[in-house]
Amino acid sequence: MQEFDMYINGKPVQSGKTFDVINPATGEAFARCQLGDVSHVDQAVAAAKAAFPAWSRTTDEERKQLIHALAGAIEANMPELMQIVTMETGKPMGGLNGIGSGMEVGGSIAWTQYTAELQLPVDVIQDNEVARVEVHRKPLGVVASITPWNWPLMIAIWHVMPALRAGNTVVIKPSPYTPVSTMRLVQLASEILPPGVLNVVTGEGEVGSALTAHPDVQKVTFTGSTPTGKRIMASAAGNLTRCTLELGGNDAGIVLPDVDVKEVAPKLFAAAFHNNGQTCAALKRMYVHESQYEEICAAMAELAKNVVVGDGLEEGTELGPIQNQAQLDIVEDLVASARSDGGRFVAGGKRIDRAGYFFEPTVVADLTDGTRLVDEEPFGPIVPIIKYTDIEEVIERANRNDQGLGGSVWSSDPAKAAALAQRLECGSAWVNDHGALQPDAPFGGVKQSGMGVEFGLYGLEEFTSIQTLKITK
Ligand code: NDP
Repeated sequence: MQEFDMYINGKPVQSGKTFDVINPATGEAFARCQLGDVSHVDQAVAAAKAAFPAWSRTTDEERKQLIHALAGAIEANMPELMQIVTMETGKPMGGLNGIGSGMEVGGSIAWTQYTAELQLPVDVIQDNEVARVEVHRKPLGVVASITPWNWPLMIAIWHVMPALRAGNTVVIKPSPYTPVSTMRLVQLASEILPPGVLNVVTGEGEVGSALTAHPDVQKVTFTGSTPTGKRIMASAAGNLTRCTLELGGNDAGIVLPDVDVKEVAPKLFAAAFHNNGQTCAALKRMYVHESQYEEICAAMAELAKNVVVGDGLEEGTELGPIQNQAQLDIVEDLVASARSDGGRFVAGGKRIDRAGYFFEPTVVADLTDGTRLVDEEPFGPIVPIIKYTDIEEVIERANRNDQGLGGSVWSSDPAKAAALAQRLECGSAWVNDHGALQPDAPFGGVKQSGMGVEFGLYGLEEFTSIQTLKITK
């Protein structure tokens, strides 16, 4: 079994203790990582702090070239990284609608290349005979990145690349469920970046909290659940450490009564079920007008029954297993509550009888707001379809949720849908699509889905502080 060391100051580090990484398609261990502790967090932060002065003084052009070199290294190792991502997350190599490890690694390359090219302009506020006033963007120092298990490599890239591009150094802590692709990324980066610029520590509980509370960390960037985001913010508050938090979503999609059901159903299905629903901005509450309700429920059920579920390494697999046992337990618990709330299971509803954490793609009709499956983020292959009659009322129902990551409106009239989409309380609103992200458009949540944005110049700026420079003449 392959074993992966931590990387601190450009060198592999062992702790003397390891933990197993499970392939969710088999339930068996396929790799081992180091069980780091607080002493490793201290070493990694010290290395990143020591590397910061020289790294922050490199020119834009130097950092741009090095980040392009990282993209090149990911590209050169794409088949291996795809296999790792599939084995640690369970997601297929290809996947439903092409959303699988190929997309995760391909997206990682694209995001890295795009981020390398970004420039932080100097803003000239005043320039006259009295004075020149410039606004500069400066790197912050050591950035702590804490990542989840659903898109481990891509989210690591979303954290690490803009942090480095802006001139910061980084300590990353991947989820213990899916550390392997991050370990491989940092291994590759150790041949490209100066020592200490990118460090990785693996471990459980104490590692993450030590990192977010560390006085030499200037910024925490976190993607994961809302309760953990709140704990991280509380722990960062001790040092007034800045946070970008990309947290859970319980995204509503509103289907207007003018859609062509045949055309729209596969898109709705993919928006809800890609990566088994384990995507923060997947479609998780589907509101359908009463006039098309039964037709859409039947179309979704048909798609759920026919989608190919299996081991992600096998060609043709569209959906893999749920990523871990704890998440499978959450899904089973929500299924039980949906049954007792009177949900009509038009597809799925139980575990698949095989090794690993497989669950049938599940579509539940006849539930409404106020039931757990509608109100809570399931983060699994299950979606409730909720009936509505009045558009004004459905907008209000969609907004009546603590989360506000994404939302969508589906219609054959895009202008009408766009006007309604703007009334959704969420950071990203889509028309006739859901969850589509791109490296140049900001992405982030409102309400309890987080704070701050990622991607593009808006995201890059979050890894900087402002310095105003006034030159009196
Ligand atoms: P968490 O949000 O709990 O964990 C995500 C990351 O945070 C992991 O690396 C975890 O590592 C770390 N972490 C946990 N507690 C702390 C802490 N106090 N300080 C610093 N780091 C910490 O996600 P889970 O894996 O437990 O999944 C739970 C739920 O989160 C899911 O059911 C799902 O609903 C949601 N989720 C949402 C995601 C999203 O993209 N929005 C992604 C993944 C999950 P460790 O446990 O070792 O501390």
